Amino acid sequence: MSKGYIHSIQSLGTVDGPGVRFVAFLQGCNLRCKCCHNPDTWVRVGDAKEFTAEEVVNKAVRFKEYFKDNGGITLSGGEPLLQAKFATDIFTSAKEKGINTCLDTSGSVINENVLSLLQVTDRVLLDIKYTEDALYKENAGCSMEIPLEFLRILNNMNIPTTLRQVIIPTVNDNEENITKLYDIAKNHNCVDKIELLPFHKICQTKYDAMNITFPFGNLPTPTKEKMDFLKTFVKEYV
Ligand code: SF4
Repeated sequence: MSKGYIHSIQSLGTVDGPGVRFVAFLQGCNLRCKCCHNPDTWVRVGDAKEFTAEEVVNKAVRFKEYFKDNGGITLSGGEPLLQAKFATDIFTSAKEKGINTCLDTSGSVINENVLSLLQVTDRVLLDIKYTEDALYKENAGCSMEIPLEFLRILNNMNIPTTLRQVIIPTVNDNEENITKLYDIAKNHNCVDKIELLPFHKICQTKYDAMNITFPFGNLPTPTKEKMDFLKTFVKEYV
């Protein structure tokens, strides 16, 4: 079985996919989002620990009784697609043990190994960070075309998908953006849920510890009223 680098593990998470989930945050990311909450996962090796896929699944199995009907294992990051072979081995083994598999990704890497990973993925949480290519390029570091192509692949493979977007005041907290996000969902039958997540800044301490600037550190966080208002545009999917 393959080996990979893991930044951290959350034994019983409730916000990264349906139900109660064992969440492994894989180390390394190809993007540099200006709103990133986890800059400490960017560098491929960093402070990460090396695990075999088997070791990860064995850890998850200990919590199986908590997963019930819809919980399971989630691979997040960083960007789990960068370690697609490792992730595939984890998911293949998890599914053999009857554990549901969920991938939390930016959808910004597409290759043969990623396609193999999707064959053993029960659900994808896909970050559609912005709905304009210019904002993607400026604030995430990739073209919007790649995650959209990734979404087309998910649609063709019929993989249940949750679209996620972090709402950042002055950048994407407007009706036009949310309406476009709704249209993207509408055009892909695989999408059954949309999660709008408020931008927050508790990660500032990570940037300080790394001695780098938090690019969006000066932006405000959205109010509850604004979040509730924007959610009304996608209420069909909330
Ligand atoms: S894809 Fe995720 S981990 Fe990578 S830079 Fe963007 S927000 Fe951070």
